[in-house]
Amino acid sequence: MTTLMEATTVCRNYINGEWVESKATKIVERRNPANTDDVVARVPLSTRQETKQAIVAAKAALPGWRETPAPARGNILFKAARLMEEQKDELARLLTREEGKALKDALGEVQRSINIIEFMAGEARRLTGETLPSELPKNFSYTIRRPVGVVGVITPWNFPVAIPVWKIAPALVCGNTVVFKPATLTPLTATRLVQIFEQAGLPAGVLNLVTGAGKDVGDEIVTNPHVQAVSFTGSNAVGAELYATGAAGMKKIQCEMGGKNPLVILADADLQLAMESALFGAFASTGQRCTATSRVIIEEAVADKWVAMLVERATQFVVGDGLEPGVEMGPSVDENQMKTVLRCIEAGKKEAELKCGGERLTGARYDKGWFVAPTVFDHVRADSTIAQEEIFGPALSVIRVKNFDEALEAANSVRYGLASSIYTTDSNKIFEFVEKSEAGMVHVNSPTVGGEAHVPFGGTKATSVGPKEVGRSALDFYSELKIVYIDYTGRKRESSIY
Ligand code: ADP
Repeated sequence: MTTLMEATTVCRNYINGEWVESKATKIVERRNPANTDDVVARVPLSTRQETKQAIVAAKAALPGWRETPAPARGNILFKAARLMEEQKDELARLLTREEGKALKDALGEVQRSINIIEFMAGEARRLTGETLPSELPKNFSYTIRRPVGVVGVITPWNFPVAIPVWKIAPALVCGNTVVFKPATLTPLTATRLVQIFEQAGLPAGVLNLVTGAGKDVGDEIVTNPHVQAVSFTGSNAVGAELYATGAAGMKKIQCEMGGKNPLVILADADLQLAMESALFGAFASTGQRCTATSRVIIEEAVADKWVAMLVERATQFVVGDGLEPGVEMGPSVDENQMKTVLRCIEAGKKEAELKCGGERLTGARYDKGWFVAPTVFDHVRADSTIAQEEIFGPALSVIRVKNFDEALEAANSVRYGLASSIYTTDSNKIFEFVEKSEAGMVHVNSPTVGGEAHVPFGGTKATSVGPKEVGRSALDFYSELKIVYIDYTGRKRESSIY
């Protein structure tokens, strides 16, 4: 097994229980986005051939893992959760160095991952089906959950521990074997995660890791006939292509993609509470989460007052290297992402009123990183570009409306449907919003972000394809029902209906 120091030099692939050097001719450097002098990892862009080897290893390990009793599979996950707990601080610090989020957010992400592994480990003892009565005497039927087979896990960089965990843990509990392709920007947290599962005693070939580009490693996973299912989180552009490619190969596909999440504030709301939630939802984790609050939809009557409160706090938001104490927001994940965010902001300046931010941060504290100031736009039209397109950066658009009906219409006017939130004390409006909001997850007087280990996660409309992730519903993607009919009459059937 590699040590952290070795892994820091050049990441290795983990295939069939061995840490193997990639034969890739191209190796890219991953630098700390808060301080580009700090090289975090060197990442080989592995070949299709290496990906095929990982798939072959996963296929060979499948019969042994499938036949391992589910509670025994769960015990390995319990061990992994304990190991992650022991390494929590180190893993969170690495996450901050590699991805950039503030250390408190990284610690939160690792804790959530521990919770998910523990929850899924417990589910191993509850992989239940149903027992169903028959229309015939002395007959009954029941269902059992069987693994799908070799599962591909393709993940983004923004939650480099939690998202892989919420795919890998249920996949393993259900008896599948896994080929994991992390984002190229966060290879070292992925390596540490796989090392934890290795230390927990996972048999060779059950979990394999291949670093590399989406167009090679990712595409091989999606097109290889030995892979039965692919779970993907990332952009809509890639997800749409991956869904079509996987469908052509008759694979089971699950995609979690973009969001443009609204936070609605009615005039009777607790304005201070709504402000703190919008601030946290828009700027914590640098807005780089699919559940980030990117639109505030507010009743005109309280808009001036509320925007002034928000801007005052946004301009004081502490931006810096996430490892520094007191920092509330880190950098964009890399130069490309920062440029994309700045481009969106420039477009916004033509469409709406810039209230604060709107530029790259400069000065000694910021010059070695990719920092963008917390940005607020006011008087944004619901159909403008900044109110429609996902930005994935610290930019919040305020849309003013006359009443609840207009707020609901604006909230639903985007193609995405991940999370939404409403701040009000009017219980009738709360229930109406819960009913009519086109979002997979609706929050009432709570921020658009966040989730719990046992509660399903996912969206609707263009955001999601396939069953919800996390919680018990995750098992629906990673297992297939087998239906069993038992007849204990010992006699020939009289009717052909049955
Ligand atoms: P993000 O920028 O948020 O990481 P992407 O959609 O670009 O979102 O990438 C998400 C994951 O999908 C990454 O691991 C990426 O390498 C992978 N990926 C990119 N293109 C493809 C593709 N054509 N086939 C399969 N996976 C891909």
